[in-house]
Amino acid sequence: MAYTKNEIINMLATVADDEVEKLRQQAYSVMLENCGSNVYLRGLIEFSNICTNNCNYCGIRKSNHKVHRYQLNRENILQSAIMSMKSGFGSVVLQSGQRQDAEFVGFVCSIVREIKQITKSEMLPNGVGITLSVGEQSEETYRKFFDAGAHRYLLRIESSNPELYAKIHPGEMKFENRLHCLEVLKKIGYQIGTGVMIGLPGQTLEDLANDILFFKSIDADMIGMGPFIPHKDTPMNEEKFPWDKNRNYRLGLNMIAATRLVLEDVNIASTTSLQAIAEGGREHGLMFGANVIMPQQTCQEVRNEYLLYDGKPFLNETIDELASGVKQKVEALGRKIAFNTFGDPLHFFNRGKK
Ligand code: SAH
Repeated sequence: MAYTKNEIINMLATVADDEVEKLRQQAYSVMLENCGSNVYLRGLIEFSNICTNNCNYCGIRKSNHKVHRYQLNRENILQSAIMSMKSGFGSVVLQSGQRQDAEFVGFVCSIVREIKQITKSEMLPNGVGITLSVGEQSEETYRKFFDAGAHRYLLRIESSNPELYAKIHPGEMKFENRLHCLEVLKKIGYQIGTGVMIGLPGQTLEDLANDILFFKSIDADMIGMGPFIPHKDTPMNEEKFPWDKNRNYRLGLNMIAATRLVLEDVNIASTTSLQAIAEGGREHGLMFGANVIMPQQTCQEVRNEYLLYDGKPFLNETIDELASGVKQKVEALGRKIAFNTFGDPLHFFNRGKK
């Protein structure tokens, strides 16, 4: 169904319990109609927090000298990928800070190749699906990653309002370049994922409605978005920008529902930042129309060094505990986990048909 911007703003503005429940039920049934009740799991491997960017909101920004920087070695990453595969997650996400140097690009290519090789099984003859989320890169680099075997890419637009984008990023980070990267990724043939932070200082409901229309206009296949949470060692810390936790949480859920209603057949992730605000937040997102969860699969030793915002959950559990915990929680909702499959977004195959 085509919704107007005002209709989307009204969805986002919903606060009364019974109205929220109505919105949730609508979104849930559109999800069931278009995607079924399956939940897809992707093991999240945060393989390095070394970053050359200085995003004003992000805890691992280059200028935060309090962070101990790490890059996981090959064996360690492969081990996480194998554990994800053994848990039946059909896909992994490799995420890190942004680096564009040749050494980094070569490392990512070889690790993608090795993961594809080593996770081949009877169930997954092509190995696990690989999503990369390593920031802005050149077309040549994106092609190398694709040729190595990555078939999805996550690059959030962070805000589709260029003025707001400029306020939360340093001058050298250009909105146009982010857009250009998304176009290039699509041209190469990736399934493209994007998203925004919800509840940014100065962000209006109209901005968020425009974000959803933006996702539609670029024909995104996957959406990953979550509430903005201030990090104490960034220019956008809580003292300078007091935040309303409950509002960001509610808006986070309303955004998932509204995105499902407008975009219908895309994959929508219920992200960790929802969980960081409220226990059970990730499961809650699934009830509002999300169909993907990315369980933490980074080794425990470095997990607390990849802190984008304060209050990151799941710092102390083992990889196995996290895998079995998520299975139990999803099944308790009456949703089925689709094991041993890539879990590609139907939208990618429906593109141009609707
Ligand atoms: N370097 C990669 C990965 C970035 S981290 C890239 O540039 O795409 C993944 C996401 O975490 C970011 O896209 C951002 O939307 C989110 N994030 C960062 N800081 C955050 C904060 N303080 N609150 C909520 N989300 C945050």
